[in-house]
Amino acid sequence: MSPAVRKWLPPLFAIAVLIAPFTGWMPAYWVTLFNYIGLSSLVALGLVLLTGVGGMTSFGQAAFVGFGAYTSAVLTLDYAVSPWLTLPVSLLVTALGALLIGAVTVRLSGHYLPLGTIAWGIALFYVFGNSSTLGAHDGLSGVPPLRVGTHALIDPREYFVVVWIAVISMIVATRNLLDSRIGRAIRALRRGAVAAESFGVNAPRAKLIVFVYSAVLAGLAGWLYAHFQRSVSPGAFGVNTGIEYLIMAVMGGAGRIYGAILGAAAVTILKDQLQNILPWIIGSTGNYETIVFGAILVLVLETAPNGLWPLIAGPSPPPKVPQRPQAPLPDREKPAAGTPLLRVTAARKAFGGLIAVNDVSFEIAAGEILGLIGPNGAGKSTTFDLLTCVTPLTSGNISFCGKALAGEHPQDVARLGISRTFQHVHLAPDMSVIENVALGAHLRGSAGTLRAFAHLERQEDAALLSNAKRQLERVGLGEQAMMLAGSLSLGQLRLVEIARALCLDPVLLLLDEPAAGLRVGEKKELARLLRELRAEGMSVLLVEHDMDFVMSLADRLVVLDFGQKIAQGAPTDVRADPRVLEAYLGGVT
Ligand code: ADP
Ligand code: MG
Repeated sequence: MSPAVRKWLPPLFAIAVLIAPFTGWMPAYWVTLFNYIGLSSLVALGLVLLTGVGGMTSFGQAAFVGFGAYTSAVLTLDYAVSPWLTLPVSLLVTALGALLIGAVTVRLSGHYLPLGTIAWGIALFYVFGNSSTLGAHDGLSGVPPLRVGTHALIDPREYFVVVWIAVISMIVATRNLLDSRIGRAIRALRRGAVAAESFGVNAPRAKLIVFVYSAVLAGLAGWLYAHFQRSVSPGAFGVNTGIEYLIMAVMGGAGRIYGAILGAAAVTILKDQLQNILPWIIGSTGNYETIVFGAILVLVLETAPNGLWPLIAGPSPPPKVPQRPQAPLPDREKPAAGTPLLRVTAARKAFGGLIAVNDVSFEIAAGEILGLIGPNGAGKSTTFDLLTCVTPLTSGNISFCGKALAGEHPQDVARLGISRTFQHVHLAPDMSVIENVALGAHLRGSAGTLRAFAHLERQEDAALLSNAKRQLERVGLGEQAMMLAGSLSLGQLRLVEIARALCLDPVLLLLDEPAAGLRVGEKKELARLLRELRAEGMSVLLVEHDMDFVMSLADRLVVLDFGQKIAQGAPTDVRADPRVLEAYLGGVT
C-alpha cells in the first residue's frame, strides 16, 4: 500500500462506518452489531494499554465490565437512581475494585500475573453468580434505558451515537495519556523497570495507574452494556469473555490504539458471521464456529504476529513533539566546588559466595571527575548499582550530601540528584530518541494522570521535551531526536543515555563505560562535554576502559580489582603504581 493510501484509508473508512447507520442502508441488525463492537472496543482499548503498552496480560477484564454493569443495574433497579447519575458511581466502583485487585496483581511478575488475573476473573464470576442481590445466575433484568429528557434511547441507531461518542472520547484520552510524561514512563516500563526507576518513576504506581485505567474503560463498557442490553447476567463477565477481549487486543495489534477497534470489529463480525455461514456451508448445525474461529485466529497470528492494524497502517509513526523552544527549566542548586558530596565507607556486596564489592571506601567532592577503573569483573558496575540503590548493600555505608542511602529506592536517589547511564544500554527501542531522553526529566514535571487525559499539561510537557532536545543537542544528536531509538548505533545510544542522565539536572553523574563503541571524534566531543559539565559544577564518577580517555579527564582515580580497592590518587601516580600494573595490565610493564 502506498503511504498516502495508508494514511487516508483508515480515517475514511472510520468516517464511512460512523455515517453508515444514518443513511438508511444499514439494517438495524448491523447497527446493533456495531454497538457491541464499540463496547468491546472500550475493553480492548484498555487491554492495549495494559498488555500491549504496559506488558501486563490480563484474562480478567470481563469482570470489570461486570463491575460497571452490575453497579448501574442495582442502583437503577433497587434504588431508582437515574442511569446518567450511576455512570460516575459505576466508574468509581470499578476503579476502587481495580485498585484493590491491582495492588496485589501488578506486583506479580512473569507468568504469575496472567495466572493471577485468571484466578480473580473466575472468583468474581462466581461472586456475581452466587450473590442474591445481583440476581444470582439469572442476573437482573428490566434495567431502564438511558433517556434524553423523556425520550428513551432504545433505537440501536440512537445508542450507536452514545457508544461511539464514548469510544472516540476514550481514544482521545488514551492518546493524550500515552503522549504525556506519565505515558512515557508507562511505555518505558515495558522492558524492565530499572531505567525508569533510576529516573524517579515509581514503577508499581505507574503500573497501577494503567491497571485502574484499563479497568475503568471496561467499567464504562459495562455501564453502556447494562442500559443497551437492559439486562445483566454473570455469563457475560466470565473468563471466557475475558479471553475473547484479550484476543481482540492481540489480533488488532497489541500496543496500537486503533488496533483495539479493528480487533473488536474483526472478532465480533467473524464470530457472528461464522454462526450464519457455517451451517449453510456444512449443511448441519453444531458449534463448529468455535473451531473455525480458532483456526482463523491461529492463521492471523501466524501471518501477522504484530496484529492486523500494522498491516493496514504500517509501523507506528514517530510521535509529534513540539519544536518550539521553551524557557529552560530551573536548575538545581549545585554544592560549592570541593565540598564533600559522596562518601562510600566499607561498602560490600556479596552475591552468594562471590564478593563483588569488598569493603570499598572512597569519596567524591563536588566539581570533580573521579575515574573508577579496574579489569572486567572488578566490581565497577556493581558499585554503580549500590550507589543508585538498584541493589542493597550487604554491609557498609553510602552517604550523599550527608544523607545515608541505605534502604532508599532508586527513585529517591534520582530525586537527590544522582543520575546514571548503564553499561548495557537501557533504552526503549520502540520509543523515539527524544521521548527516551525526556524520561530523564520525569521528576522535573508534576502534572498527574487526570491532567494528562485532557492534555492540560501541554505547557509543562513542552518544557520537558524542549529540555530533552537541548540535552540531545549537547551530546551531538539533535538531528536524531525524532528517530526511533532502536534505529541508532550502539555508540549513539550511549550518548542518548548521557543526554537522558543530563535531563535530570544531576549533582552527580555516574557514567558506566560511556566511550565504549564511540568513534575517535565522538570520544573527543564527549571529553569536551564532560569538562564543560565539570566547569558548570557537576561531579562525575566515570567508569571507562579507554585509559587515555579516563587519564586525560579524571582529577583522581580509584582502582578496583576483584572487588577490592587496590589504589587511588592522581592519574599519573596511579598509572605508575606497581599493584595497578600487576592487576590491570596483567603484570606487563
Ligand atoms: P565490572 O563492571 O567491574 O566489570 P561487575 O560489577 O559487573 O564488574 O561484576 C563484578 C562481579 O560480580 C563479577 O564477577 C560478576 O560476575 C558478579 N556479578 C555482578 N552482578 C551479579 C549478580 N546480579 N549476581 C551474581 N553475580 C554478579
Ligand atoms: Mg561493568
